[in-house]
Amino acid sequence: MNDTLNSGQARYPNLLAPLDLGFTQIKNRVLMGSMHTGLEEGRDLRRLAAYFRERAEGDVGLMVTGGFAPNIVGWAKPFAGMMSTSGAARRHQVVTQAVHAAGGKIALQILHTGRYAFHPLAVAPSRLKAPISPFTPFELSSRGVERQIRAFVNCAVKAREAGYDGVEIMGSEGYFINQFLSSYTNQRSDAWGGDYSQRMRLPLEIVARTREAVGPDFILIYRLSMIDLVPGGSSWDEVVTLGKAVARGGATLINTGIGWHEARVPTIATSVPRAAFAWVTQKMRAEFDAAGIRTPLVASNRINTPEVAEQLLADGFADMVSMARPLLADPHFVKKAAAGQADQINTCIACNQACLDHIFKNQLTSCLVNPRACHETELVYRPIASAVARRRFAVVGAGPAGLTAATVLAERGHEVHLFDAASEIGGQLNMAKVVPGKEEFHEMLRYLQRRVEVTGVQVHLGRGVQASDLQGYDQVIVATGVVPRDPRIPGQDHQKVLSYIDVLRHRKPVGPRVAVIGAGGIGFDVAEFLVSEGHSTTTDLPAWQAEWGVTDPALAAGGLHPGGPQATPPGRQVTLLQRKTGKLGEGLGKTTGWIHRTALKMKRVTMIGGVNYERIGDEGLLVSDGEKRENLRWIPCDTVVLCAGQLPLRELADALLAKGQTVHLIGGAHQAGELDAKRAIDQAARLAAAL
Ligand code: FAD
Ligand code: NAP
Ligand code: SF4
Repeated sequence: MNDTLNSGQARYPNLLAPLDLGFTQIKNRVLMGSMHTGLEEGRDLRRLAAYFRERAEGDVGLMVTGGFAPNIVGWAKPFAGMMSTSGAARRHQVVTQAVHAAGGKIALQILHTGRYAFHPLAVAPSRLKAPISPFTPFELSSRGVERQIRAFVNCAVKAREAGYDGVEIMGSEGYFINQFLSSYTNQRSDAWGGDYSQRMRLPLEIVARTREAVGPDFILIYRLSMIDLVPGGSSWDEVVTLGKAVARGGATLINTGIGWHEARVPTIATSVPRAAFAWVTQKMRAEFDAAGIRTPLVASNRINTPEVAEQLLADGFADMVSMARPLLADPHFVKKAAAGQADQINTCIACNQACLDHIFKNQLTSCLVNPRACHETELVYRPIASAVARRRFAVVGAGPAGLTAATVLAERGHEVHLFDAASEIGGQLNMAKVVPGKEEFHEMLRYLQRRVEVTGVQVHLGRGVQASDLQGYDQVIVATGVVPRDPRIPGQDHQKVLSYIDVLRHRKPVGPRVAVIGAGGIGFDVAEFLVSEGHSTTTDLPAWQAEWGVTDPALAAGGLHPGGPQATPPGRQVTLLQRKTGKLGEGLGKTTGWIHRTALKMKRVTMIGGVNYERIGDEGLLVSDGEKRENLRWIPCDTVVLCAGQLPLRELADALLAKGQTVHLIGGAHQAGELDAKRAIDQAARLAAAL
């Protein structure tokens, strides 16, 4: 048998199997979950079309767009993308035609945000402000509710007019429909409130009337909140009752929604175990099977490799898998899996740094590991025109910046030599990967290693390079990274003082009481590493569920354990410090900072801001408060770990420049302030695309 087929089709038979919906067929079991990218806004949707076309070419079975509002009150924010007119339908044809030309299928998500809206026109079942929006919504009248239903139906009709293969009705994540389902947010006493049969009328009316309006041969996905993860969330009986009613009422597929946006449980961050919520979909599958309902169910959240997806399908957890961010990271995920090249998949590390964090900052989505995501038309890796254009590059430093530059240059056809003083590629990523909850960095390193092999980069490890070694190259790219900043604290030559490199890379012994100086990304990671003592709940689902207080919704409504989170006792007593006043970890990711802070608080890490570091001595760390250096006191500790930021390592670049050589500086070597892997990779990719 053909080797490729053997490793592709045979390894993922369930994932690659078509799904017959009767009136149409989906070519495999991969649904690209809805993601807002920022490309949805405005009148020109050509970039959105290019983004989806690339994923359709990658053989994604069925894609769902980011959310489009059915009307103005349903906007997520002012002037958000909306589908309510024939004009809008015409504008969207560029998207649907591009997808269909590439052999794909696409559904439009109908998103009414209700009280989550970031604008003053917000409407909701009751006049109750959401904790995550500054606007108090207007309470809808009964006629107002009718108008919303008609808007949903109209939106679906227009989507069909635009050429979409279906719609997804967003019924989860705490948005408008969800707000009607919970007595916590729906305190109405008319026909749309009261007991559950009345509260669930809204989604049932929307589904039934939409089905009637669009006809039987149009995909209608309903995103069902299977576990709300908020106080006052639905009971399992309620979720099952609704799921069955939606299926019988005309849904073609039921997708899984996990957690309201206001939930205080992480649901997609990198520290969440892979497929951590698939068991909820499995429970629903069992309920459906018992009731003879065959409507396919889609499992979701933290499914990021073909192995995990295949296992879920093989074990009958669901009939399809939803992957959203993994298809930002690699548009050719499915194609590579089918071709037996799963080891070349650029795996989503669930960092949120360039996708969700961007959206929350009103920036265009991208992807840390794939800067081309949502930039398909503008960041293009063109092969060199001819052998004459082929140049010989030296890239020094095999961190993310150097690896990206080297592989993009080699892919384009140049001769590339990559040097690193270390015995392995990856630079600082090798420290990130040992932090509990950051295991996905192993995948990034695996991918980069394969890219180096596939593109033919010539790698020279264990080679600390000097300027004199770099003769005979047309151009040199310096990606030598950073050195830790010296905080110059009196007494820092004490034997109890270590750097983050000593702790994470060299695994030097650390005492039971630790003071961590610096509360940036690295300070937080070091604190997590020290309190967890090597045990990561990311690879231990029951422990992770206990830590965040997640339980079976059949045991407690909303799936929140009545006893709350049960964190395991910390391995060490850690104090995390910074000189700035204010909240520690302010500079961490918009969508993940709260998770890091909560995790450390649960592990009883003491967080202190606004201090001066006076001295390190046998007693520990002597600190004082504020400009007046008041409240002088010792923080008793056996070890002090310095995480006081980083400075560029530019010795090589300076020496090369002094010799008159053309040098390109990227990553930490270019600028260490606010450096992260996202910036390092993006900068390297753009340089290598342009050279
Ligand atoms: P580096 O990764 O520092 O690589 C530089 C390389 O150059 C090194 O391998 C070094 O050996 C080599 N080198 C230096 N001089 C020479 C020479 N003369 N000859 C040969 N080789 C040389 N970023 C994120 O975006 N998200 C995170 O979650 C995240 N977590 C982190 C956690 C930890 C614990 C740490 C330490 C960092 C983390 N980072 C994270 C930051 C991220 O790793 C860095 O921003 C990124 O690695 C910088 O990339 P770089 O290629 O510029 O440099
Ligand atoms: P950082 O985020 O810049 O934090 C440096 C810390 O050191 C700050 O808390 C700073 O706070 C303190 N500091 C600065 N100068 C000091 C001095 N002279 N003496 C004592 N303390 C000093 O940098 P980092 O933690 O080293 O991380 C490096 C980069 O890696 C960051 O840019 C970060 O984005 C990235 N990273 C990201 C993640 C992630 O999860 N996204 C994780 C790890 C690292 P005060 O000045 O208030 O004391
Ligand atoms: Fe995944 Fe991070 Fe890329 Fe978002 S930015 S798609 S979370 S790798």
